[in-house]
Amino acid sequence: TATLELKGVVKRFGPAEIIRGVDLRVLRGERHALIGPNGAGKSTLFHLVSGHLRLSGGEIRLGGTRLDGRSPAAIARLGLARSFQITSIFGGMSVFENLRLAVLARRRRATVAWRLASAMTDAAEEAVARAEAVRLRPRLDTPAADLAYAEQRALELALTLALDPGVVLLDEPTAGMSAEEAAATVDLIRRTTEGRTLLVVEHDMDIVFRLCDRISVLVNGRVVATDAPAAIASNPDVRTAYLGDAVDA
Ligand code: ADP
Ligand code: MG
Ligand code: MG
Repeated sequence: TATLELKGVVKRFGPAEIIRGVDLRVLRGERHALIGPNGAGKSTLFHLVSGHLRLSGGEIRLGGTRLDGRSPAAIARLGLARSFQITSIFGGMSVFENLRLAVLARRRRATVAWRLASAMTDAAEEAVARAEAVRLRPRLDTPAADLAYAEQRALELALTLALDPGVVLLDEPTAGMSAEEAAATVDLIRRTTEGRTLLVVEHDMDIVFRLCDRISVLVNGRVVATDAPAAIASNPDVRTAYLGDAVDA
């Protein structure tokens, strides 16, 4: 069954129709990649799902609940998180402090009755565990601003997951990384999103194949194919549509 479902989604910027009737079903627990040439509308689609842009038409549901028309904060509370939105990385604060803040923010919402002292202790433990999960434990006391680029992306991922979302949207999580950093990041994403639903925009096809169970191809604002990776790879229409972008990826 689909947990995230888009039906006939349209987005116009003035006269330009950028998203042109997108149907997309992301199944519960699957890792779903959204690929397509530059300018196809992938990021715009993410903005629509997360509530950062208003739809021009169609509807979006999460587990049956209408998402369109809700604020980004309300959508996050319903269990859908995307990396940039939570990325209040505070540069002057340490990795530990950033993570503890995110954990406390979630817990304040979830358990109003908690006593603050015990919440702080548990939040500290959870913050350390979450740093450990993305291999940032050695950097716990480092100001976030002093982290290397790939480490900042790892912290972003940990902060996103600190919301404990059922559905995670990641837009180009390995962009700007070396091959080694990208491979390590894929491994992190696999482990930390276990049991969650993942929708990820990624240009590197090797990474898409290692990370995802199903792939949807967005071309010119329309989903032209959704299938298993092997079927997508051998689909001649997809190869034609994607070739131009794979070169500069
Ligand atoms: P992708 O992420 O697939 O590379 P985008 O979603 O970023 O593509 O952009 C899709 C198209 O929508 C591009 O042609 C872009 O110029 C256009 N676009 C995106 N945001 C806006 C906006 N706010 N106003 C007008 N055009 C936009
Ligand atoms: Mg792009
Ligand atoms: Mg984009």
